Amino acid sequence: MILTDYFRVLKINLESGKGQVIHVDGRDKYIGGSGLGAHLFAKFGLIDRPWDDAQQPLIFAIGPLTGLFPLMSKTVCSFKSPYHDQFAESHAGGRSALCLKFAGIDALVIVGKAAHPVCLSLGARHIELKDAGFLWGTDIQSSGKVLRRMSSGSGHRSILRIGIAGENLVATAGINVDTYRHFGRLGAGAVMGSKNLKAIIIEGNSSFELPAGKQYKKLYKEIYKKITDAGMMHKYHDLGTAENITVLNALGALPIRNLGKTSDQAFENLSGEQFADRTLLRNMACAGCPVGCIHVGFVREKFMEPNHYLYRQVAYDFEPIFALGCMLEINDPFEFLALLDVVEKTGLDAMSAGVALAWASEAFEKGMISEKQTLVSIPFGHGKNYRIALEYMARCENEFYRVLGNGVQKAAAKYGGKDFACVLGQEMAGYATGETFFVSQALGLRHSHLDTGGYSFDQKKEMENNKNVDKALEFLVKDEKERVLLTSMVACLFARKVYTSERISQCLESVGVAHIADKQMELAENIRNLRWKNRLATGYDPSSIRISKRFYEVENWKGRIDGTFMDELKSAYANKIVEMGS
Ligand code: SF4
Repeated sequence: MILTDYFRVLKINLESGKGQVIHVDGRDKYIGGSGLGAHLFAKFGLIDRPWDDAQQPLIFAIGPLTGLFPLMSKTVCSFKSPYHDQFAESHAGGRSALCLKFAGIDALVIVGKAAHPVCLSLGARHIELKDAGFLWGTDIQSSGKVLRRMSSGSGHRSILRIGIAGENLVATAGINVDTYRHFGRLGAGAVMGSKNLKAIIIEGNSSFELPAGKQYKKLYKEIYKKITDAGMMHKYHDLGTAENITVLNALGALPIRNLGKTSDQAFENLSGEQFADRTLLRNMACAGCPVGCIHVGFVREKFMEPNHYLYRQVAYDFEPIFALGCMLEINDPFEFLALLDVVEKTGLDAMSAGVALAWASEAFEKGMISEKQTLVSIPFGHGKNYRIALEYMARCENEFYRVLGNGVQKAAAKYGGKDFACVLGQEMAGYATGETFFVSQALGLRHSHLDTGGYSFDQKKEMENNKNVDKALEFLVKDEKERVLLTSMVACLFARKVYTSERISQCLESVGVAHIADKQMELAENIRNLRWKNRLATGYDPSSIRISKRFYEVENWKGRIDGTFMDELKSAYANKIVEMGS
């Protein structure tokens, strides 16, 4: 038996510095990843206490197939979010999942608040709190260099760390994972900050057994071949998700200038081809992934006259390009990368930070706010001053930036401009594809474009002239369940066409948990419902979610948004969410 029927959970209290591995029942109910995170939050989360209560848990969970099959490479982080003070989930790759597996645990639960800034180091045989007072206030790059020296090993080591945004409890602060990946959204970075936890070093310093017999090896080879041969993953390796810029621009579905427009030839300068030709240094991959979709570009900075330059590496994807490029009317790849560099160093979430600044630029141009609040002039397209404004946001430089860092909704409530707040539960993702996507992100559990494939449903031919609420609702509910199965394994969602339900069954059978394979969809449904239960219990009211006027004004290749259809779908989905979580 490769997997135990219980979960091995390492629970650490930062106050005492002590931790222990506990056995938590329920592998056959909660699978792992999203399911395990939701289960542990139900067990340890304090639903009536605020997100920054010292005893709130910060949970990292992996799945039953982690380390055993390609692209089973993600970790799920579950927590109470500073963004809305409700249950939340965020996903990241890098080496975190494999290192937790090699440390011999299915999940890490961190409670308590350290008396002073610390770095938590853990492995299969050790837990140690190291003083990190000297790292407090350092940026992600500098702390990374020190933390790598503070730990042994490299390949089986994962480093999670926060920047000044997390330290300052900014609700849009993320956790940086191994430099190029992130638990980006909904403020997990601030949760670490509230615990005085600058960094977590996970050392995967044990080993684990692979399944015996031929079935596992044969299946592994088959999946590996499918991923590397079929061409289906090449697009992620070659241009990466940056190729979405051209596709969405052609559809008139690319949010530009705070969603004031959805298409502009000038943004072909930010296409995947342009980045590949002009800025790309190398590709990287999460541990256990043969695809390598992480595209690393460079920024160049003059630090001394006449010709002394510093080069820094920055990983770009479609979402940061949309948020810090298109939304801000920055269409030069190097200017965009310079903004992304600031976001990376300070530990803000790139999407939220870009969309927040886009709202601020529109409010600034409309005269609703002035330099009295923004301290620098921030009309659209002003890259140099945006760099300063991003620093201000991470540092909570004044009241305006403190509020803005906590999200556009809060800033618009205080300064006006709700009509053009591009918020769908949290700052929008880069798809102006239509009503189904807007509703999906606005109400979805993570307020993420990955909660469901609403953006692809919008592009279905049959939906263009026949907007049907029942069909769209059926899609959202079914697609969420299928994705929850994958995020409980925990697979990279780029591999969703490889890991069909049938292939997941084969994988589970090959590692000795056929009983989970037999009822996987039933379990996925229960996990989906448990996640909603957690969210509702922490105060979520889906019927209270508003979609701003700006979204109703969008025009794309299908014409103008159908507001009636969108309202009806939103109302039906809100009712369904309450039903699922009851
Ligand atoms: S496809 Fe990209 S995000 Fe997914 S596991 Fe591979 S490198 Fe990581």
